[in-house]
Amino acid sequence: MLPDLMNLLRNVVGTEHVLSGETAAPYCIDWRGRYSGQALAVVLPGDTQQVAAVVALCAEHRIAIVPQGGNTSLSGGSVPLPQGQQIVLNLSRMNKIYALDTVNYTLTVEAGCTLAKVREAAEQANRLFPLGLTAIAAQCEIGGNISTNAGGIGVLRYGNMRDLVLGLEVVLPDGRIWDGLRSLRKDNTGYDLKHLFIGAEGTLGIITAAVLKLFPRPQSVATACVAVRDPEVAVKLLAHLRANCGDKISAFEIISRSCLDLVLEHIPDTVEPFVTRYEWMVLIELSDVLQAP
Ligand SMILES: Cc1cc2nc3c(=O)[nH]c(=O)nc-3n(C[C@H](O)[C@H](O)[C@H](O)COP(=O)(O)OP(=O)(O)OC[C@H]3O[C@@H](n4cnc5c(N)ncnc54)[C@H](O)[C@@H]3O)c2cc1C
Repeated sequence: MLPDLMNLLRNVVGTEHVLSGETAAPYCIDWRGRYSGQALAVVLPGDTQQVAAVVALCAEHRIAIVPQGGNTSLSGGSVPLPQGQQIVLNLSRMNKIYALDTVNYTLTVEAGCTLAKVREAAEQANRLFPLGLTAIAAQCEIGGNISTNAGGIGVLRYGNMRDLVLGLEVVLPDGRIWDGLRSLRKDNTGYDLKHLFIGAEGTLGIITAAVLKLFPRPQSVATACVAVRDPEVAVKLLAHLRANCGDKISAFEIISRSCLDLVLEHIPDTVEPFVTRYEWMVLIELSDVLQAP
């Protein structure tokens, strides 16, 4: 039955997009090499219809699917088990930008678009997509960001990925396509089913496309690194800033001594920010759509 399935998968996505053996290996291990497994095959669909057909085939043959985006999530969810009885469904080929609406401030993309590509597209239109995962933006993909409800440094002002999604397209476990690609902001009709899929790590379906919210691009940015006595003082400082700067606070990240020591030890050209070695520091960013005077 399995050789049959392999041929059926090849018929759907094309022979060159069904990988096995050595070519499949890089998709079966996580970034740090902490989790690794084996897949029956790694399948790289080119569009939503192909995802739907692959999912329907796997449902019929009772084969489990591990959806995979950029494989950056470090917790094993995007890597197959060692028994080699699952397929990896990698969405990286599905990286089209469908539409950018500067009037409605929305961007409609396929799930395999990298975060960097999305941020760049927004920037070129003088808009901002605020999910801030700079270290991995070139690798992680919108489908993965949505499936992990990613946060990053912009959460205080813009919210988690859940707050940045207006609509979704999802392939359900039996291969049906759920079309929820809506860009209406004031949408108060019935249940908001998209939220079931956000943060679900592929357990309820495979996200194939999304409508994302864009924001005005900040024209002025100010950053500060502030040493504080302890986290309690940091929280009070945040409350004080909120009272005085409102939602101009675009990042507020606490940094512990042990964390900074690791950075100084392992990342070249980094330096102690203060003459004194403080135990706790806060990195603050304020930004505004107005130009600085
Ligand atoms: C250096 C570093 C810093 C980070 N910092 C932060 C941070 O500050 N805040 C934060 O919230 N996160 C952080 N993360 C985690 C980050 O949010 C995830 O790594 C990223 O969002 C996952 O995207 P991906 O495309 O690589 O997904 P993958 O790693 O490929 O997949 C993640 C999960 O989603 C599932 N999945 C992937 N694509 C789909 C899809 N299309 N449909 C359904 N399921 C899917 C996978 O099966 C898996 O369970 C960080 C990670 C790294 C490596």
